[in-house]
Amino acid sequence: MDNKTALVCGAGGFIGSHLVKKLKKEGFWVRGVDLKYPEFSKTGADDFIIGDLRDPDVCKNILDRQFDEVYQLAADMGGAGYIFTGEHDADVMHNSATINLNMLHFGEKAKIRKIFYSSSACIYPEYNQVDPENPKCSEESAYPAAPDSEYGWEKLFSERLYFAYKRNYNMNVRVARFHNIFGPEGTWTGGKEKAPAAMCRKIASAKNGGEIEIWGDGKQTRSFLYIDECLAGIRRLMDSTTFFGPVNIGSEEMVSINLLAEIVMGIAGKSIKLKHIDGPLGVRGRNSDNKLIREKLNWAPSEPLKNGLTKTYSWIEEQVSKI
Ligand code: NAD
Repeated sequence: MDNKTALVCGAGGFIGSHLVKKLKKEGFWVRGVDLKYPEFSKTGADDFIIGDLRDPDVCKNILDRQFDEVYQLAADMGGAGYIFTGEHDADVMHNSATINLNMLHFGEKAKIRKIFYSSSACIYPEYNQVDPENPKCSEESAYPAAPDSEYGWEKLFSERLYFAYKRNYNMNVRVARFHNIFGPEGTWTGGKEKAPAAMCRKIASAKNGGEIEIWGDGKQTRSFLYIDECLAGIRRLMDSTTFFGPVNIGSEEMVSINLLAEIVMGIAGKSIKLKHIDGPLGVRGRNSDNKLIREKLNWAPSEPLKNGLTKTYSWIEEQVSKI
């Protein structure tokens, strides 16, 4: 029997490059597409096309063969330092929306069998995330919509676009809302890194007894999901025959940023002072709500945060030591 085939858009990125490797292990023939090759290791893809998915010709060309599964992860994105300053809003909205418009338009013409889209917890309304102890992020609470960033608005628009293609063109779409995915080989420096990677870098670079800077008072809460569990969730959603999402793929282990720092210090075996400074923050509290994923896919992430952080810290410490 021929291998199943998959196309991964954004295969040079953090989640995409890990997803390619997982699909290869599962026996897929994989084509990856991105503006760049993965930064930290060789791609696992059978075929890797460097291309700009904002360009309609690129989207048309990469779909020149039949794919069993398409994963659309490409987006103009980054952590709070990229998304919440407002400086990149036009690019974020234009670039990501164009990619999704192109992929659905040409995907429909190419008769792709199934397409996955990665949305984000950033679509949830700001008004439900003001109490750091009690954020509400159940799937149905997305409306009335009030995301706290243009990045979130684009994700919400694109979610709707995917489901419109499902309704009008009978496309088999799957949508997940990721909550802060982290792990080795993720962006860890340069301005697009997210909290866990930034924390690991700061602590790995600091001397025992030294000091690091934290944006805000550190009492803002978040949950973080290790990459392997994110990939397991994606594959479960793709394999479901009855459930399409949108569904949260995230951890329910909510921590304050101060506690995140304490956990990483524990892993590093260092004691470091936290200096709280002004910085871009996002919502006050956010946590995944996994009721729906448990109910529909009979599964939810369960690995403790500390385990994923231990693996990530060790990788980032190695990167820091190479500077
Ligand atoms: P990433 O930035 O590492 O990967 C995105 C990839 O898309 C990059 O390699 C980038 O080069 C590529 N890309 C951007 N514009 C492109 C274009 N015009 N043409 C071709 N490729 C292009 O991000 P990631 O963390 O791997 O995230 C993957 C997806 O998951 C994104 O859609 C992101 O919005 C979503 N998401 C991620 C998280 C997270 O915590 N990592 C949380 C919520 C949602």
